[in-house]
Amino acid sequence: MGKISELYGDAAKRTLKEDALMVKELTNGYTKSNFQDMFGNVKKRFTLIDAQGNILYDSERYTKEDEMANHRNREEVKEAFETGEGFAIRKSKTLRQNMAYYGLLNENSEGEKTVIRTSISYDEEIKDLRTLLVTQIFFFIILNIAIYICYKNYLKRDLFKKIESMREALESGDEIKTIYAKGDVWLVKFWKVVRDWQKENLKNIRKLNEEKTRLKRVISAVDLSIILADEESKIIMKNNALGYLYVNGKLDSIYKKVKYIEILNVINKGMKTKENIKEEIFISKLKKYLLVTVKYLEFKKEFLITIKDITRSRELGEIQKNFIANVSHELKTPLTNIKGYLIALEDAPQELQKNFLDIIRSNVEKLENITMDFLNISKIESSKIINLAPVPFERVKDEVEKILNGKVKKSGAVIEYNLDLKDENNYMNIDFEKTVTVLKNLIENGIIYNNKVPHITVSIKEEDDRYRVSVKDNGIGFPEQEKDNIFERFYRIDKARTSNVAGTGLGLSIVKETVDICGGKIEVFSSENEGSEFIFTLLK
Ligand code: ADP
Repeated sequence: MGKISELYGDAAKRTLKEDALMVKELTNGYTKSNFQDMFGNVKKRFTLIDAQGNILYDSERYTKEDEMANHRNREEVKEAFETGEGFAIRKSKTLRQNMAYYGLLNENSEGEKTVIRTSISYDEEIKDLRTLLVTQIFFFIILNIAIYICYKNYLKRDLFKKIESMREALESGDEIKTIYAKGDVWLVKFWKVVRDWQKENLKNIRKLNEEKTRLKRVISAVDLSIILADEESKIIMKNNALGYLYVNGKLDSIYKKVKYIEILNVINKGMKTKENIKEEIFISKLKKYLLVTVKYLEFKKEFLITIKDITRSRELGEIQKNFIANVSHELKTPLTNIKGYLIALEDAPQELQKNFLDIIRSNVEKLENITMDFLNISKIESSKIINLAPVPFERVKDEVEKILNGKVKKSGAVIEYNLDLKDENNYMNIDFEKTVTVLKNLIENGIIYNNKVPHITVSIKEEDDRYRVSVKDNGIGFPEQEKDNIFERFYRIDKARTSNVAGTGLGLSIVKETVDICGGKIEVFSSENEGSEFIFTLLK
């Protein structure tokens, strides 16, 4: 505060001094006789005091007391007479306020010394100065704000541009660009940090994407339907397996997506109890067995549902379970027949004996057939060695026909051969036994699964490194969807469609396994009632 009042004092003194100097200037050369006239022209407020302290002149009103009062001892006057100038601030009794006084020693043309005293209301002055100061402060504040706003806008625009270019560079993905940031060292540094960070991020994102794609590929490749659902039963993720179980369209609630109530019942149970559930169900509409599992993933509050089509393995399991029973049954029937006819033979009249013997022979053949299948199966399993040797096709044909003699005769089957071999004596470089096994089974099926007079065409074409063999029949054929099943062990298409009750469902599995061992491939073309064609290759 002291400093500020000093400042005000100085300012007041400066003003008063200027006024006093001006008065001095204007009244230069006054004398006693003319001072009244000269001073009257001066518009400044001042008092003229002589060396005795009397007021000679006052530009404004002054009271009698003022006139009477001796001014010699007034600080500013005293000082002025002593040093040439004087300054004082004090309370004026007349004006009842703080006044600032300035005294300036003056000498008229007659050598008489006076003091020109100028005065102002110090309170007014302070008020004015304060107003000025406040105005100035206010002005500076406004100016600063204006400068700040302008600068900020400029900075903003400039920075915004640079940051925008950083953002674009970052968003552009895998390319790491350099940005233009002239002069802004910190910005360049900042950008380098961001760039390194982006590099690292991109690396991680790439890695994650690779893993994601790998996982997606695995999930979509499995033949297991996988669904991930939240607690509100909304599907979060689902692969495409077993599409026939679902309604087409977007991912929705499980209850809208899954077509079959049997599946929904299991899912519902799992979702309600939040316990792991594993249930085998049968969908009668589809004639399919499904294994449905529901697992609650507690940490994610999600359900993992898997559905597996187990129809095939269920059926195969079923078939295998019945196999021993079937085999015993199949063995028992011819054995019972043989036993019965043997007993009957003892007392049979001569004319029936031949008949009985024929029946016994055909049952023995049946037994032989079944046993051959078993032998073949165990042979394949125990030895996978191929014995390639040159064999005339005639020998293969004779062997096959010898085995199938009974069936061929009984059915009146015609077997036709088309050979396209390089050797003029039709020698083939093959594994004799295995080739016989394959041909025997295929020709036999062509005869059995036939309700006309069987006509079988065997065609062999020799290629550079293999033989291409086709066995075509005019039999009952089978539907397209059974194409792969028929090569499975123990698999038989509906028994009712054929009279071959002795079949074991092993014939074609023996064929396929044998062809595999010989390095070949087998495929089949068939349609119901139009016959079938099996084509296989044998490496030389
Ligand atoms: P099996 O003859 O002992 O039943 P296979 O493995 O030889 O066993 O044949 C499997 C099934 O394929 C048979 O049950 C039959 O229904 C069908 N099949 C096989 N060959 C033919 C064919 N040539 N024509 C029509 N159906 C066939």
